[in-house]
Amino acid sequence: MDKSVILVLATRNKGKTEEIRALLSGFPVTLKNLDDFGPIAEVVEDGDTFDDNAYKKASFTARVLGFPAIADDSGLVVEALNGEPGVYSARYAGEDADDAANNAKLLEQMAGVEDRRAAFQCVLSIAMPTGQALTYEGRCDGVIAQAPSGEGGFGYDPLFYCPDKGKTFAELTMEEKGEISHRGRALKEVADEFDKVLTWIDMHTPMQERFECKG
Ligand code: IMP
Repeated sequence: MDKSVILVLATRNKGKTEEIRALLSGFPVTLKNLDDFGPIAEVVEDGDTFDDNAYKKASFTARVLGFPAIADDSGLVVEALNGEPGVYSARYAGEDADDAANNAKLLEQMAGVEDRRAAFQCVLSIAMPTGQALTYEGRCDGVIAQAPSGEGGFGYDPLFYCPDKGKTFAELTMEEKGEISHRGRALKEVADEFDKVLTWIDMHTPMQERFECKG
């Protein structure tokens, strides 16, 4: 079986694309993202869970483009905020909020709060154009720092302090973060059984019929 497979990463986020590319490098997969294709409609991420949103993004992309697609939905879950920002992580401070605004809102909500436990969670969905999907999950526990620190990463990285490393995610190199991050762990699950994933993709790829044409 030819194991080189096209997998479309259902995102335009450069940070995620870089991380996923690095984590899947060395595997027989040609990873494309939405920027490799023409404009396609953007799916509304209105699911109640990371699972719902990951599946929505992956299956929509696979259907529209006709290739297997992989999507992640991830976010920060803060104990003292009853799981917020959760599925609203990207738009915590409003629809068009940027990372700085989201981080500022998080710090504001956590002012004076002693219990600073939090976790990044990630669900990865690999979907076929015909709708079938595989799901992988990863989680990384940490605490919300009192102030941002570090220049790397994206999103809430400057505020997410990882006790095992003694640093925030934004102070880690991309490789260090990939080893312990929610996305890194979910991707490791995928990587560990990538042969099975390839067989699964192959099984669900419709046979191309060959037709002889007259001269
Ligand atoms: P989505 O998975 O594209 O819906 O984005 C979820 C949001 O969660 C991002 O916009 C970030 O704010 C946050 N997030 C997800 N993963 C990370 C990470 O690795 N570091 C920092 N923030 C993250």
